[in-house]
Amino acid sequence: MKELASNTDSINASSRLDFSKFDSLISLMTYFKDNATCKDFLAEQRWGDDVVCPLCGRHHCRKRSDGRYRCPDCLTNFSVTQGTIFDNTKIPLQKWFVAMYMISAHKKGISSYQLGRDIGVSQKTAWFINQKIRLLYGQEVESLSGDVECDEAYIGGKEKNKHESKRTEGTQGRSLKTKEAVFGMAQRGGAIVAKHVSDTQGKTLSPIIRQLVKPGSRIFTDEYIGYKSLYDSEYTHSIVHHNSGEYVVGDASTNRVEGFWSQLKRMILGIYHFVSATHLQRYVDEAVFRYNTREQNESDRFRMMFGRSLNVVRYADVKAAA
Ligand SMILES: [Zn+2]
Repeated sequence: MKELASNTDSINASSRLDFSKFDSLISLMTYFKDNATCKDFLAEQRWGDDVVCPLCGRHHCRKRSDGRYRCPDCLTNFSVTQGTIFDNTKIPLQKWFVAMYMISAHKKGISSYQLGRDIGVSQKTAWFINQKIRLLYGQEVESLSGDVECDEAYIGGKEKNKHESKRTEGTQGRSLKTKEAVFGMAQRGGAIVAKHVSDTQGKTLSPIIRQLVKPGSRIFTDEYIGYKSLYDSEYTHSIVHHNSGEYVVGDASTNRVEGFWSQLKRMILGIYHFVSATHLQRYVDEAVFRYNTREQNESDRFRMMFGRSLNVVRYADVKAAA
């Protein structure tokens, strides 16, 4: 559950530079007119006046005449993109920045076919860009409290849409034979957290709830047996009885988290068509980022993405996404 830890720091992080000027795609493209401007902007945002060696951490490194930097201690030459998602890329930075802007601006995401056409790269390259940018969406919610709606969703082929000969027995509803399970927790008036899970048994879901939802919170679930351990616990537990057609009793509903599921499913089915189990969490992260930043404007979302792109990315993560 490590990937769910830490705070909303980078979402709210102040930045050195003014991003409010990027209020449209055209203003972004006008500003980032060439690679040198993009690199200067990256350097300013990353270091300001104090260039730090990414290898040994030495401060006040100098810029060389060829645009790279040199550390006087460990004698390493490095570029402004070293350790970022733009490291070792042959794709011009302008295309990366436009892609980041477009991906975060599109409410339902953008397919690699569309992105490739829009920024003038092949579909394969666009898919790679999309996957790398998706690394920036890691969920950073520390904990949820107050009124929290919990629910599970099942992503995968709908059996009833398949030809009879291709159907698997007993795969509707909560069966996981052809589907992957995602568990979501939505704080009313706050953030959502969602996690690809191996199954939806109580012993899988309760530790996640206990890790992320503060004791004393009110938890809303449906009548699914997986939530039985909440009946007599540190939480106040309200059950929404879907089976008896009773969706909203007073304020006992799971409408918010269900609204998120429909967004997630629209994104996956409508834009990406197919998502493998291996990559599902990244797509869930993308939908969560959109949901949790739904009140923000395009330039704010771009600022957040930009800030995250400079965080040192482990090579293994980038490789795993490629
Ligand atoms: Zn150094």
